[in-house]
Amino acid sequence: MEKVVVAIDGPSGTGKSTTAKLLAEKLDYMYIDSGAMYRAITYDVLSKKINPADTKKIVELVKNARIEFRGDDFFLNGKNVTKEIRSIEVTNKVSSVSAIKELRKILVDKQREYAKKFNVVMDGRDIGTVVFPEAKFKFFFTCDLNTRAARRRQDFIDHGMKIPVEKIMLELKKRDEIDTKRKESPLRKAKDAIEVDTTNMIIEEQVNLLLRRVQGLD
Ligand code: C5P
Repeated sequence: MEKVVVAIDGPSGTGKSTTAKLLAEKLDYMYIDSGAMYRAITYDVLSKKINPADTKKIVELVKNARIEFRGDDFFLNGKNVTKEIRSIEVTNKVSSVSAIKELRKILVDKQREYAKKFNVVMDGRDIGTVVFPEAKFKFFFTCDLNTRAARRRQDFIDHGMKIPVEKIMLELKKRDEIDTKRKESPLRKAKDAIEVDTTNMIIEEQVNLLLRRVQGLD
């Protein structure tokens, strides 16, 4: 039977991942955090001290990368890198690494493989536009910048890091700029995606809104 894809795109800090994860749990679908895949490659590039401009080397690395989602943990080449891929260093570099065309092609193929085997909820930047243009359900999350920064700050605090909100805001703006302006699969809303502004919503509302759509109740 054809598998179901729920695509959730939007900038960071809009609540995509938390919503996607809970929605997948409720639907008993697999949750795929596509950003984690781009982050893992970036982490590998940084730890191997590869020049982020060395496309050839990076593509080689991606070709051989073994990426695994195991429960809440994320493994790269057998190593649990769940925590490492959220570091500030990785966050600051991930958008430039993600702009490499050949790298995207390989990761997109991997993302499509998951959806051949499982019903999936996948979040990212290009899921509804490029990875699964035919996805049955597409959502595009937006949120006011101040709220996004405040949420990100709280995420950091939850992970034991205190970062000034201004710094977070700059980082978000920079990533938005690169992600929306890049040539390859830029971040944009698919024509047929439902826009969800999460500025004044709590997680439960977001999850319920999506759940009702997927279940055909709305
Ligand atoms: O979702 P997250 O913030 O973890 O994504 C990190 C970065 O990975 C994004 O800023 C973007 O540059 C890249 N990304 C992407 N395409 C996706 C998911 C993430 O280019 N589908």
